[in-house]
Amino acid sequence: MNKLVLKPGREKSLKRRHPWVFSGAMAKLTGDPKSGETIEVCSSDGEFLGVAACNARSQIVARMWDWQKRAIDAAFFHERVERAVALRAHLLPTSDTVRLVHAESDGLPGVVIDRYGETVVLQLSSAGAMRWRDAIADAVMGIVQPHTIYERSDADVLALEGLQPSVGLLRGTSPASPLLVYETGAAFEVDVPHGHKTGFYLDQRANRLRVRELAEKREVLDCFAYTGGFTVNALAGGAAKVTAIDSSGPALELLQRNVALNKLPACECLEGDVFQLLRKMRDQARSFDLIVLDPPKFAPTAAHAEKASRAYKDINLLAFKLLRPGGLLFTFSCSGGVSRELFQKIVAGAALDAGVDAQIVGHLSPGADHPVALNFPEGDYLKGLICRVAGR
Ligand code: SAH
Repeated sequence: MNKLVLKPGREKSLKRRHPWVFSGAMAKLTGDPKSGETIEVCSSDGEFLGVAACNARSQIVARMWDWQKRAIDAAFFHERVERAVALRAHLLPTSDTVRLVHAESDGLPGVVIDRYGETVVLQLSSAGAMRWRDAIADAVMGIVQPHTIYERSDADVLALEGLQPSVGLLRGTSPASPLLVYETGAAFEVDVPHGHKTGFYLDQRANRLRVRELAEKREVLDCFAYTGGFTVNALAGGAAKVTAIDSSGPALELLQRNVALNKLPACECLEGDVFQLLRKMRDQARSFDLIVLDPPKFAPTAAHAEKASRAYKDINLLAFKLLRPGGLLFTFSCSGGVSRELFQKIVAGAALDAGVDAQIVGHLSPGADHPVALNFPEGDYLKGLICRVAGR
């Protein structure tokens, strides 16, 4: 087997079981391993550290599969997928949409597997994951037995890995159209081939439920609404009225279909830029009792954190101004480059500049199907706060 030898002293993070080897830590690579080929990683004095998938074209030159000397083969993927699927079994009675495998945090770097009822979607984003595509699909077929396995390996990060996108049917029949799924009792239509990520934002399930629990009789503003995950839950929770904003017309059309699918009262849909529309609403002196801010990733890495911080501050400041006394703000950041601590500081600064007193009444994370391995803090990307503006 080809070997990657680290520079002296660079084995520390691997000994703490962090699963990435950066190119700067590498002293040499023996042979000429192909993209995604399994290699051994060892320290500068020859100590075995683990087996990994190699990608000489990426800054992350190796992603660890295991810390033992073991074969990486179909049986390995079967075992890892089976373990991950078993950990989600408790969610299935109320949701047939769950993330089955959450990449590094489930011991499978670059492998995301989402279930939408009888359709399973693979999103592969590392050379190792792509090399083992068939073994992974076979494992899913054997364990989950879905009607369809569809590949959506088209995330932006592929370019950084020097990998080509790969999209299409892998096993079984084409995804049902429309594809209807249930998330904690609410129905949603999901567009697997064309939707964002693998079709739906599964990481917000638990937080949508919190909105459902707190929405009763409130006038709600759902910003960055996409296909209505929060809107449907606010209406299901008895919101007095919901206004949804998104820049994507097709997403809002699907949102309206999802509202109708659940036999809920219609909502107000505004197609446009949240930054501009919040200003317009402030100028019109509109106000709300509950606002959701679930923007796209403004800072993919820490290098973008400053610009992203200004954007988060801007929308949070405007949202605080639009909230009535006693109003609730559900505010999120899914930027890997913005820590929980920094996010809380930004939101605090926004409240201060908006001239409101507010308290944190909840800290939010994704649900149990998006675990964060303790050896992989990078997995903790989605953070949120529920803030309550002081009442009169
Ligand atoms: N809250 C959603 C997920 C939001 S994803 C859910 O629960 O499913 C982010 C959304 O923001 C996308 O639908 C995208 O179209 C939209 N978006 C991105 N930038 C925007 C902007 N400046 N103004 C309005 N919408 C925007």
